[in-house]
Amino acid sequence: MAKYRGPVCKLCRREGEKLFLKGERCFTPKCAFERRGYAPGEHGKSAQFRNRRESDYNRQLRAKQKARRIYGILERQFHRYYEVSAQRRGLTGLNLLQILESRLDNVVYRLGFAESRAQARLLVSHGHFAVNGRKTDIPSMLVSQGDVVQVREGSRSRPYFKELPAIAESKNVPAWLSRDLNALSGTFLRLPERAEIDGNLQEQLIVEYYSR
Ligand code: SF4
Repeated sequence: MAKYRGPVCKLCRREGEKLFLKGERCFTPKCAFERRGYAPGEHGKSAQFRNRRESDYNRQLRAKQKARRIYGILERQFHRYYEVSAQRRGLTGLNLLQILESRLDNVVYRLGFAESRAQARLLVSHGHFAVNGRKTDIPSMLVSQGDVVQVREGSRSRPYFKELPAIAESKNVPAWLSRDLNALSGTFLRLPERAEIDGNLQEQLIVEYYSR
């Protein structure tokens, strides 16, 4: 399972905005972007670097990189998602976002069972979740309409999952999912509509990037 292993906060600084990749820390003064809200590297601070005119290509590239970083996906797999999206009926950009939202690690995060997608990915890969009663440790698994994602019986006695209902209670669940905190489970009701997908993503620019 390939994943980005470099410094996470650098990604926010590179994109010039907070991507909220580290859970609670992102809402505290410890957030690196709050302290150093400029691009990393030697020229990150210089006005010339910040004020340069962006080319269309650069805007498309940045939109793609940002989405990739928010969902924690490497280039090869992201490109593959784009190709699948292009083959599906409907708007390619929306199809792409819906695929990203259907990933098991994202669903676990959206259900409030993890603080960040990175943590959700870890919990899934450690085998703490089952889909429709079957154990899975594949964070990239795509969840379909009607699928039930649940913390496995054997994992519930762990301190993290014992405390989870109290912690997750304050987290809102999107309308396209339903959650049962007593059972530590959630159901994928339907694909999200565009307005229900946050993150200030510009999917049209991503499509333009790949269709050059
Ligand atoms: Fe980004 Fe969160 Fe790091 Fe702040 S703390 S720079 S929002 S990942």
